[in-house]
Amino acid sequence: MLQPKLCKTWMPFNFSKDVLGVIIYLAIIGVTYFLVVKSSFQYIPGYYLSEVHRFTSFLAVGVGVLLFILTSFSDPGTVKAENVTKYVCAYPYDNIIYTEKECSTCKILKPARSKHCSICDRCVARFDHHCGWMNNCIGEKNIRYFMAFLVWHFLLCLYGAVVLGLVLASRLKELKVIYILTAYYGVENSFFSLAPHIVQTFKWQDYINWKRKLNETKTSAAALKASISGMTGEKKPPESKWRAFFRRSPLEDVEVTKDNIYDKGFVRNLLEIVCPLSSKRSFTHNKVD
Ligand SMILES: [Zn+2]
Ligand SMILES: [Zn+2]
Repeated sequence: MLQPKLCKTWMPFNFSKDVLGVIIYLAIIGVTYFLVVKSSFQYIPGYYLSEVHRFTSFLAVGVGVLLFILTSFSDPGTVKAENVTKYVCAYPYDNIIYTEKECSTCKILKPARSKHCSICDRCVARFDHHCGWMNNCIGEKNIRYFMAFLVWHFLLCLYGAVVLGLVLASRLKELKVIYILTAYYGVENSFFSLAPHIVQTFKWQDYINWKRKLNETKTSAAALKASISGMTGEKKPPESKWRAFFRRSPLEDVEVTKDNIYDKGFVRNLLEIVCPLSSKRSFTHNKVD
């Protein structure tokens, strides 16, 4: 049975539960952005960077935090007595993985693809997982925010790497590092002319000599092994246990018919994430697509 929680009546989330993930996320993104501002903002604008990156970087981090908050504090699609029939109609039972049964805790019907989250103590429609970082379930209604959060942070990492790379390139250009190196080696106006010096620094000839000696040793070892085999008689080695393990199983020839009624193709699956079924008019009117 659902236990009413007093703290939920005045707080948007249960603070007494594990909010460590939220604090860690905010600390990581906050400290990282602070370090970037302290170390790199003095070089913006630079030779390859305009001033706009001071604002766009803040905006990019802000959107990331916003998506985190949206995912953390949004309803993942809680199945209640009022909406369970609509969810059951929207996600019919396939009678393979999902069959009609009641949640033993909530005492309501479990729609297909739903799951009871023991941490949040509720049934969630099209349950994906309970995210410890977000301190929330990821389900039918908030998976769009979660996916946007993941994609956005991937792009944020790329953007950060490119901007920091350009900050470095700008500094090299401004400090005329290549020019100074060129002057130091006494080669006029050509960075590529440094190549012989660099090659000498890495002792390329020593590497070639070492490689040749290694090949000679390998050849001698192979010849010795072949002569020993000749003396003891050639014998086919037994089949490796690993080879036997990975040998093609006769069961692999059996054709498995895919019968996943929830797979509607790439585009419609994606649309289902962006526009959850529960937000459609057909859902509120209790019709199945
Ligand atoms: Zn339940
Ligand atoms: Zn949960």
